[in-house]
Amino acid sequence: MHLSRLGGGVSMLRIGITGGIGSGKSIVCNYFEKLQVPLYHADDEATRLIDHNLKIRKKIISFFGEDAYAKKGLNKAVIRQRVFNDQKALTVLNAITHPPLMKHFNDWCAAQKKQKHPFIIKEAALVFESNSYQMLDFVVCVVAPLETRISRVMQRDGKTRVEVERIINKQWSDEEKIKRSDFVIQNPDDELLLPQILILHDLILKKSALYGK
Ligand code: ATP
Repeated sequence: MHLSRLGGGVSMLRIGITGGIGSGKSIVCNYFEKLQVPLYHADDEATRLIDHNLKIRKKIISFFGEDAYAKKGLNKAVIRQRVFNDQKALTVLNAITHPPLMKHFNDWCAAQKKQKHPFIIKEAALVFESNSYQMLDFVVCVVAPLETRISRVMQRDGKTRVEVERIINKQWSDEEKIKRSDFVIQNPDDELLLPQILILHDLILKKSALYGK
């Protein structure tokens, strides 16, 4: 639990939903959205901001060079290649992007208060790796067996096994994430998701009533 972050006067809990590639974060978040929970897609918002925010663009170009951007936005292939095995370049990229992304999330949360829902959900692949868990009250980790995740992503994205495994090997393991999470949702293909989500939804509502005053 991260109750120390709740402080006084908190009126809306912030719940992070994370998990490795192919674990089923998006499916879980879709269920919460159907339950009227406001949903922030951290990865989509980050892509949008990095592609279109001029201040971010200027800083990225000044470090990575003009070919960091193509017409439509960030040249992901170029950046991926630069940061894949270069920790310093990754640190610089994070230092440029994290503060504006955090501000965007905070502003979005402030706007949601008008809707008076007791909690919001932030879907993000890298809650712990990016330290963004510090802005959340509770973190939920979605897990599924490795083989299941690999075949889901191969099928969804048309990637090869080697490509998927390379991504997985760069991510934190489920064990690391579970250790730091407050709740875990099991999502192998044969597990029923909805009952787990309803129980969790109820639990978070109770926590909101307890802490969100
Ligand atoms: P990413 O990190 O790549 O965004 P994700 O964790 O958000 O992945 P999803 O996109 O929700 O994962 O799921 C990956 C794929 O697996 C999707 O095609 C989804 O339809 C499928 N999938 C997820 N959960 C299940 C399930 N319980 N049964 C069958 N298919 C599933």
